[in-house]
Amino acid sequence: MKKILYFLTAFLLFSLLFISCGQKNDTKSFEAMNTFMTIQAYGKNAAKANEEVQNRINIIENAISTTKENSLICRLNSGYESSVKADNDTYNLIDFGLYISEKTDGALNIALYPVTSAWGFTTENYRVPSDEEIRKLLKYTDYSKITLSSKNEVTLQEGMKLDLGAIGKGFAGDRAIDILKNNGITSALLDLGGNIQTIGLKPDGSEWTIGIKNPWDGTIAAGLKINNQAVITSGGYERFFTGDDGKKYIHIFDSKTGRPVENDLASVSIITNSGLYGDALSTALFVMGLDKAIDFWKSNRDFEMIIITEPGDIYYTANLSEKINLISEFNSINIIR
Ligand code: AMP
Ligand code: MG
Repeated sequence: MKKILYFLTAFLLFSLLFISCGQKNDTKSFEAMNTFMTIQAYGKNAAKANEEVQNRINIIENAISTTKENSLICRLNSGYESSVKADNDTYNLIDFGLYISEKTDGALNIALYPVTSAWGFTTENYRVPSDEEIRKLLKYTDYSKITLSSKNEVTLQEGMKLDLGAIGKGFAGDRAIDILKNNGITSALLDLGGNIQTIGLKPDGSEWTIGIKNPWDGTIAAGLKINNQAVITSGGYERFFTGDDGKKYIHIFDSKTGRPVENDLASVSIITNSGLYGDALSTALFVMGLDKAIDFWKSNRDFEMIIITEPGDIYYTANLSEKINLISEFNSINIIR
């Protein structure tokens, strides 16, 4: 009898050990889309899932990069082919980009590459083009002239070029989340170059605490508790150059003027269920400026947001009140209702 008990206890212990070993986690870091990405996944297929995620993100990057010569977007932008047949990912991304370009009245404009590249963003050969040059290039940035056919064909008019840089990382994050979930992962934290996306809660059952960057010194301005959501931030501090005139030119453009945005926003963070939607809106609302961004939120209300202004004020939507913990000192704290 004693022997049987020993055997049973040993068996139980072994089973427990086996189960807990099965509940593995895996963290994978890699460079993609001109940034550094880290995927932390919890679950027994975590390592395999993370491998799949990296492969998928590489595929997306190879299709939408504006600098990798053979990418689908480069082929399209070169103008050598009148139309290009896109893979499903790229097609869906362009389709969604067009939808938000229309919905935001061009604040997001996925056809802005003729302008952004003339200023040297993407190649980092920064320069300030003349007003005349900008005026000419703006003619080629009309997103309503992008044609999408049901057979995945994308057609641009002469001189047009696409830049999916404002939405690519959010899209990649959503595809990563799909892959992780398909592999049974119920808890994960993804950092795609500052775009944060999560699955579920932390393994201990508490919410994830995400840091919102202080735009001036890179420290944490606020902590935010989230679960199952994405927190996507756009900020002038992320990429900019200083011109010979001593002015700071940021990488987010006003598509009406063809010039880097000059408003008093320092950063816009969007909290949503979809990384793609958050990425599109973080850029678009940054372009809109404070008042229009608040109006846009009031007429949609399907996301939450945090806006930090250059003078040092913070604005956030009321639903975040219980979730946000301000760390930096702000001139004023404003709740959007
Ligand atoms: P994000 O960091 O998501 O705000 O995206 C910024 C990137 O999107 C820039 O580096 C440009 O490549 C591109 N971009 C800049 N301004 C716009 C705009 N108004 N609409 C669409 N893409 C833009
Ligand atoms: Mg964006």
